[in-house]
Amino acid sequence: MYNITPISAFNDNYIWLIQSDKGNVVIDPGDAEPVIKFCEKENIIIDHIIITHHHYDHTGGVLGLKKNIRGQVIGPKNSNIAGIDKFVRDGDKFSIIGLSFDVLEVPGHTLDHLAFFASSNKRNILFCGDTIFSGGCGRVFEGTFSQMYDSICKLMDLPKNTEIYCAHEYTYSNLKFALEVEPNNENIKNYINDVEIKSKQNIPTIPTTLESELKINPFLRFNKIELRESMQDKYPNINDASSEKVFEILRQWKDSL
Ligand code: ZN
Ligand code: FE
Repeated sequence: MYNITPISAFNDNYIWLIQSDKGNVVIDPGDAEPVIKFCEKENIIIDHIIITHHHYDHTGGVLGLKKNIRGQVIGPKNSNIAGIDKFVRDGDKFSIIGLSFDVLEVPGHTLDHLAFFASSNKRNILFCGDTIFSGGCGRVFEGTFSQMYDSICKLMDLPKNTEIYCAHEYTYSNLKFALEVEPNNENIKNYINDVEIKSKQNIPTIPTTLESELKINPFLRFNKIELRESMQDKYPNINDASSEKVFEILRQWKDSL
């Protein structure tokens, strides 16, 4: 048994905390202070830290927290990240606080980006940093669109009930774009209503699940007819109808807004 709690940081980051009877893990602590405050309030000690990629809003708190953790800082091998004790890469497995994690390489947003998947008692959880967001995906900063597409496809192959713990609350603005791309998608409309209710009450819209993202997230819906028709209207000169190309144009479309 374990609980997963968001600790808010900066404007829209979530630092995820997993608490089990065997210990506590934080994922992507961009800032140490809110984590320290939370731990003092709950009277807990962090055992391990997991890092998905090198961006400062995911790593900025590592050194500040590291002095007081009992275990290790686990993350990608990248000299831009200070404080990693245990480097992991695609295909690696490791067990901490009673959970066994699979490491998935998901380059695109950055070249070092990793995702962490764990499965226990039919509950599947994924920490994917800035790869998939609810209703969207990370910007392609360091990798190619093709790499990002492959990374998203890899995550789409996980079990449908996988709970997705991404690192940002971008859901509402993502859904506005999703609706522009698929104006008749009822699932998106209903989801926007849910998100509006949650945001009024200051309730995070994350975690999401792979199952619901497959219904609403345009970056996982590159094969859907309405999406492809909107894209044809917007970019009539593009003749390559491969999924990868549709993904690329979609990402560029959103970047252009
Ligand atoms: Zn990032
Ligand atoms: Fe980020």
